[in-house]
Amino acid sequence: MPKTSQALETRLLIGGKLVAGEGEPQPVIDPRTGEVFARIPEATLKQVDLAAHAAEKAFAAWGHTTPAERSNLLLKLADRIEAEAETYADLECRNTGKPRHAFLADEIPAVSDCFRFFAGAARCTSGPSAGEYLAGHTSMLRRDPVGVIGSIAPWNYPLMMTAWKLAPALAAGNSVVLKASEFTPLTALHLGRTLADLLPSGVVNLLTGRGSTTGQALISHPLVRMVSLTGSISTGTKVLAAAASHIKRTHLELGGKAPVIVFDDADLEELVSAVRKFGFYNAGQDCTAACRVYAGPKIHDDLVAELGRAVSSLKYNKPKDEDNELGPLITSAHRDRVLGYVARATERKHIKAVTGGSAAPGKGFFFQPTLLSGAHQEDEIVQHEVFGPVVSVTRFKTTDEAIRWANQSEYGLSSSVWTRDLSKGMKVAAALRYGCTWVNTHFMLVNEMPHGGLKHSGYGKDLSLFALEDYTVPRHVMIKL
Ligand code: NAD
Repeated sequence: MPKTSQALETRLLIGGKLVAGEGEPQPVIDPRTGEVFARIPEATLKQVDLAAHAAEKAFAAWGHTTPAERSNLLLKLADRIEAEAETYADLECRNTGKPRHAFLADEIPAVSDCFRFFAGAARCTSGPSAGEYLAGHTSMLRRDPVGVIGSIAPWNYPLMMTAWKLAPALAAGNSVVLKASEFTPLTALHLGRTLADLLPSGVVNLLTGRGSTTGQALISHPLVRMVSLTGSISTGTKVLAAAASHIKRTHLELGGKAPVIVFDDADLEELVSAVRKFGFYNAGQDCTAACRVYAGPKIHDDLVAELGRAVSSLKYNKPKDEDNELGPLITSAHRDRVLGYVARATERKHIKAVTGGSAAPGKGFFFQPTLLSGAHQEDEIVQHEVFGPVVSVTRFKTTDEAIRWANQSEYGLSSSVWTRDLSKGMKVAAALRYGCTWVNTHFMLVNEMPHGGLKHSGYGKDLSLFALEDYTVPRHVMIKL
């Protein structure tokens, strides 16, 4: 944690200036101890309005910069974040409880690479060739920015989600008003210092505040032409409702409940090691978490036994950061929500807690890594996103049943298939209705490939050239010869 109070940035960024929020102070809590260590005033409706106007004003010039100019600034941003990696780690880990070593090894490189990828992508857009599609007329395509983007970020990967939202939007020439989660504003606000220094005034405006106040004002603002949300399904529906009144574009990345189909011929050791890691990474507060295992009839019993042993060995709440594999849940309310799911599941006679099953003792919001066996397809624990360190196992009989059950979900973000028979893996991957299917792995994302869902998991892609497309509009210009 930065040692002095000056080091903790609590100001918003509006129109190129770092200014204090003028709304109600929101507590910032260390979820490892439950201690409130800061109170940050949220942005008022007036400040949301000022930010939207600043972004609109900045867009006039920023939208006409060359891709090379924007690209160079994004590259500088990536360098500055890397140079301050330790400070970001201090802030993020105090605010979310994540293990610091994991944040430095996994998230900082992903964040800087995201800015670098979009710095390159900004200079490489393509489209149909210009030509005379109507005799005597030349048509050409432009790909132009949308305008002011209202971006709403969640609490699970605060800095990384900020990068996922800012990088493609800026690369494409949009200006942005981003609202960080009221629970985890610290890294976004710290980034505000660098953005104030590097970018023209108003190109990025950073706010914090609750969804019902600051967030609702942002998504409803008439100058905001597109709303990009990573959050829950219920917030997604609010974004759509607000967008309807002003015909805004929307980009929604909502929850997930990833099925993990394990055939009898799968490499059990690999699978167990992957689910131990990717079902529980970030304490399971991840929309791609490997949380809904369907196991083939022959591998099922060994899988439950081996995975149970592996999950019970996961380390958390140790004094030394390097010893921790997972952190706490984000709030006490969220811990209670996870506990409710697990308690209702284990009340059912057919479900057994192989390991874990309750909140960990102490003041922090830790939850025991939990493996539940015997879950049925229709059970709440199989159907609902828990967003905690909880994995269920369900036995299937046939390939068709596994595919049907995997697809029988309101969610459609990510999935995985485990088999040594690659052609079977490919056939099942083709039959799954998910934005991503991994074969013999899970959780791996790269900046070059799209991330986003189907069904209630939303639409719109983060990462990749598809995100750049989402943050631009194709326009036809025709010249009469
Ligand atoms: P949330 O929907 O409660 O909050 C997300 C953000 O929306 C926060 O900044 C919040 O303040 C804001 N918000 C809430 N109500 C709002 C409103 N009426 N108007 C405007 N903004 C509002 O979600 P969360 O609890 O922060 O995050 C967890 C959820 O996000 C999970 O469901 C998870 O699966 C999902 N998620 C999805 C992805 C993805 O890529 N698909 C990634 C991470 C998290």
